[in-house]
Amino acid sequence: MEDYRISLTANRKSKDGSIMGKVLDFKEEMIKHENSSYNVYKKNPFITACDRQVRYIDRHESKEQNAIMFGSNSYLGLCNSEYVINKSIECIKELGVGSGGVPLLTGTTIVQNELERSISSLTGFEDSILFTSGYCANLGMVSGLLGPENLIVHDKLNHASLIDGTILSGAKMLRFKHNDLTHLEKILKENTSKYPGGILVVTDGVFSMDGDIADIPAILNIVRRYKCLLAIDEAHATGVIGENGGGTLSYFNIGYSKDIILTGCLSKALGVVGGYISASQEIIDYLRVYARSNMFSTSLPPGDCASVLASLELIRSTDIVKRLFFNSNYLREKLKDNGFEILNSKTAIIPVIIGDDLKASLISKDALDLGVVVNPIFTPAVPANLSRLRISVMATHTKSDLDMLVSILINLFNKYDIQRL
Ligand code: PMP
Repeated sequence: MEDYRISLTANRKSKDGSIMGKVLDFKEEMIKHENSSYNVYKKNPFITACDRQVRYIDRHESKEQNAIMFGSNSYLGLCNSEYVINKSIECIKELGVGSGGVPLLTGTTIVQNELERSISSLTGFEDSILFTSGYCANLGMVSGLLGPENLIVHDKLNHASLIDGTILSGAKMLRFKHNDLTHLEKILKENTSKYPGGILVVTDGVFSMDGDIADIPAILNIVRRYKCLLAIDEAHATGVIGENGGGTLSYFNIGYSKDIILTGCLSKALGVVGGYISASQEIIDYLRVYARSNMFSTSLPPGDCASVLASLELIRSTDIVKRLFFNSNYLREKLKDNGFEILNSKTAIIPVIIGDDLKASLISKDALDLGVVVNPIFTPAVPANLSRLRISVMATHTKSDLDMLVSILINLFNKYDIQRL
């Protein structure tokens, strides 16, 4: 089995072998490094609301500042939509703030059922099942469908939740180089006879750090040749790409098929919280019982379901998806014209490569002082020479927001002596 344990902090070892030793060693090590996740979290200011314009308050509540947000997954700006908020309040007043039970017992509210149907009509799949997070949806899908007798083949950049589901399932795991279909085919060729009918290939639809799109038509071709199943994580694709935000399959004009399983998030473009799986009726019926992160966990509160329903309504009835597409294209072109390296981004996620962890951190801090929020991403989340700013575009950004971001980045790249092309 490929050694995926490196990515699990729970597998750290302490010097003295004890559990508390592990906790204390970790803290000692983290405090030393300016860029450690620990320091980033402890020093980050608090944010008041996730919108295009946010207010930041430092941890001692002594300094407050406004900034334009370029680090949110709320790509359509729906977290703070008045329409969505009002629908949520109406529903909470009628049905309460909690669902009061797990889905298979008393926890399935009427709005939850409506949301499952609405997600199925967005994806075009037979049925859907809801989870309290996208993480739980991935965990439940992989660990519910696979066991030690199966092989799972991941794109190397797949999200941690898919890897954690793999660990829970006990399936053997192999990974193909990012979007490298020759490598995927080689793995399947060498392994199909060992796992007759028992291989799941998994890829993100839109990759969360690079903003590129998986080549689903080519992947599907290979997957079908070797009679495997394909799962696509639509976390950053739902509401972002495809007709009416329908996601990766819609982007490629591919319809429903029994050999495809979709997972997705209600927490990103849809602006709320939760996750889903869309698949054939048989698979969803099975997962209602075998996806343990659904079966054994209290279902989504009704107000959240009503919020997502309102978000989906806005996606259908307004031009927000088109505006996001327009803004993303505009910013990408402007960054390229000014010589920034943005990899193969095709979506609302645009990586601006810096290639030096410390400079990425300093630029992100300076950018906040200048009025824009940009997330720095370092090793080990991305390779050391590809540390970057992960820019997230929103449908609600104005042209002057986007222009301001580019001119701030030009100044900061000059200040820190970073080459542009
Ligand atoms: N898949 C991908 C690709 C993600 O980026 C994320 C969230 N960062 C998730 C799944 C998990 O989604 P959630 O935050 O809704 O749990």
